[in-house]
Amino acid sequence: MPEVYRPRHPERTVLYRVLFHYFDRFLAEYESRFEKEYGFLRPIVKEVVERYLDCGNPRCGFARIRCPDCGEERLLMFSCRTRGFCPSCHSKRLEEWGEWMRETLLLDVPHRQVVFTIPKMLRLFFKYKRRLLGELCRAAVRALLKYFQAATGAELIPGVVAVIQSFGQKINFHPHAHLLVTEGGEDSEGKFHHVASFQDSLLAEFFKREVFALLLRQELISEALVEKIAGWRHSGFSVHSKVKAKTRKEAERVGKYMIRPLLSLERLSLDEREAKVCYRYGEGAEEVERMDYLEFIARVTSHIPDKGQVTVRYLGLYANAHRGKVRKREAGEYKLILSEQECPRISRRGWAEMIRKVYEVNPLTCPQCQGEMRIIAFLTDYGVVDRIINHLKLTFVAEKPPPPHFAYQEFLMAAETAVEYLS
Ligand SMILES: [Zn+2]
Ligand SMILES: [Zn+2]
Repeated sequence: MPEVYRPRHPERTVLYRVLFHYFDRFLAEYESRFEKEYGFLRPIVKEVVERYLDCGNPRCGFARIRCPDCGEERLLMFSCRTRGFCPSCHSKRLEEWGEWMRETLLLDVPHRQVVFTIPKMLRLFFKYKRRLLGELCRAAVRALLKYFQAATGAELIPGVVAVIQSFGQKINFHPHAHLLVTEGGEDSEGKFHHVASFQDSLLAEFFKREVFALLLRQELISEALVEKIAGWRHSGFSVHSKVKAKTRKEAERVGKYMIRPLLSLERLSLDEREAKVCYRYGEGAEEVERMDYLEFIARVTSHIPDKGQVTVRYLGLYANAHRGKVRKREAGEYKLILSEQECPRISRRGWAEMIRKVYEVNPLTCPQCQGEMRIIAFLTDYGVVDRIINHLKLTFVAEKPPPPHFAYQEFLMAAETAVEYLS
């Protein structure tokens, strides 16, 4: 029997253990405990969590791979490939994306990261209406275009990679826009103008106006409220553009930071006595956020993107149609200022449909001769899978985190009632 490639154990992580043992209870208690704060439970949440719980589980089957050069064979377990949720699938994708961005997308000009934040009191509109997150992103881009226009007097088209992050550092709901932008842009003649200075206060002012206009259009706020917030000394709208990227390599790092996973597994731990999940955050990870299991599940799942929700946008010089023109250096005019596409498929290898379920791509390098191994079969038949698992003595057990304290309290109360009833 060929060796199984298995570099990691999702079932040992706090995230997996808590979800495995408490997700059903979370579903049962959602309406009474979380609906008010998080809105209706979206069907995508159940779908994604169930897929995640199958990530790397040998019970879900294997792909058999073989090296065409030397005949070496291995078995690979399937991964979930869930978007923006599974930490290990996400980081794998991040690496490929970063490389693609550096080699194919980015122009060889200086870039900046510009982060746009909205006031706390406006966050909830975006929590219940996810589609507005895309609008928030566009508002940020429009603010940037206005700024360039104000700074140079010309209508410049920059290259923009825009990402909406929905999470703050405590895994809480904190929507904000991260833009990786070229410092400057091209004018209608195709000439690139460098804008070296970014003024955050001015950008924030433009951004504020764009967001107000957006919320007014959607009839979510009134003119009176706009005036009220605008009158505050600190409106809560802020822009940060301190992070510079001189080279494409640096810009790649910034880009990867923008689409990083919502939590880092290394910062998670369990407080066994209190039955809480602890998440370290802040600079140097010195602060600790403590949540009971169900609260933790509510937070992490609230960041699962909706089906079809665009998470990365490419605009201006980085929009697809545009990119072609830029590369060819045609003198044709740049009509489109903002166009958007879903993140392009990154996989360079055109495998069959099933490959998307396959664990990782790097184990496809042959350990014997460094050739590229090919998938020759998918083993999903229950009997076959069972025999492999038994033969290789594979285990996949998610240890149960200690029961929550209040469950014990409930038990005591129930016991007392029973005693009263009997006596
Ligand atoms: Zn080989
Ligand atoms: Zn996964």
